[in-house]
Amino acid sequence: MASSNPPRPRAGILEIEPYVAGQSSVPGKNRVIKLSSNETPLGPSLLAIEAFRAAAGDLYSYPEGSGGDLRAALARKYGLEADRIVLGNGSDEILTQLAQAYLSPGDESIATEHSFPIYRIATLAANARSVLVANKDNRIDIDGLIGALTPRTRIVFVCSPDNPNGTYVPKSELERLHAALPSDVLLVVDGAYAEYARASDYSPGEFLVRRAENVVMTRTFSKIYGLAAIRIGWAYMPPAIAQAINRIRLPFNTNRPAQMAALAALGDEAHFKTAYEHNAKWLPWLDSEIGKLGVRVVPSQGNFLLLDFAPLGEGVALEADAALKNEGLILRTLVNYGLPNCLRLTVGLEEANRAVVQALAKFLAGRKTK
Ligand code: PMP
Repeated sequence: MASSNPPRPRAGILEIEPYVAGQSSVPGKNRVIKLSSNETPLGPSLLAIEAFRAAAGDLYSYPEGSGGDLRAALARKYGLEADRIVLGNGSDEILTQLAQAYLSPGDESIATEHSFPIYRIATLAANARSVLVANKDNRIDIDGLIGALTPRTRIVFVCSPDNPNGTYVPKSELERLHAALPSDVLLVVDGAYAEYARASDYSPGEFLVRRAENVVMTRTFSKIYGLAAIRIGWAYMPPAIAQAINRIRLPFNTNRPAQMAALAALGDEAHFKTAYEHNAKWLPWLDSEIGKLGVRVVPSQGNFLLLDFAPLGEGVALEADAALKNEGLILRTLVNYGLPNCLRLTVGLEEANRAVVQALAKFLAGRKTK
């Protein structure tokens, strides 16, 4: 029966801008190359695929909800304590749980203006206020974050390397930010792309988690490990925060096939090295080749590049996107990140990387002759 007074979500829920995932198809194109979601073009370790298949024999029983074996392996690999590691259904889930546990209605979280949208979504979903601080030259402005602190601030989210900018926060700057925070404000360092970072002064922040009571580092198997489909991430946190998150975590939030595949992936150092080296070779190549075309390329520590078309004029980024899609190359438009003049390009296989440079050169040459 039609109701004149249907259930309504809590105030504010419908004002949340939905998350827009990277596009994966182009109408009318059978063959496309997806470079829109920062996935590794090399896929996961074959050992991870085998472990995932092997887990199919035991689908009837519940997993060990905390993923103890995987936490123990992460602890061994990184020299951490397993009971301070929490697994999530993707690191997205952990970011959301942190907001849920540490933000009350009316509290504030701080993130940066053109960064990963989940910080804001998780904050608004917790009925709190999201404060966004402008970047400086595509870099997180640490003084800007410090200046935005108010008595209502409860969480500061820092993404390093930052999606979609690719820039990072040097270790000493992370330390400076932490030193400026009141002890009851949580600093969340999102290291989704940590494994790709090459800068010698980069740190995903575990040194701060070790010594402070108000820092959490989040990580994921979705990027360099190539396991985005099975949703598994993790975080290293102080014991008191782990106790809080373990109370609100759904009992079986990560599934056994994902736990087992991640465990196998962690052990395959050869595959990890191949993925790292592929990126270390092609990221600078793309940066240099695309830079030569007159596009402003932001130096990146991730597996992606921010391409800024602003020097070429308003609207050129979206025109370039259409031209690339026409060639079956899908990049990420960044209108919902507040960067309408930019595109984000994920490093692909050699063929894809060369195709992107060629298609961009063709598009830009076509514009000049108009
Ligand atoms: N943080 C950042 C900066 C990301 O780019 C992503 C993936 N897009 C995530 C977190 C979430 O990754 P996942 O939930 O797959 O672990």
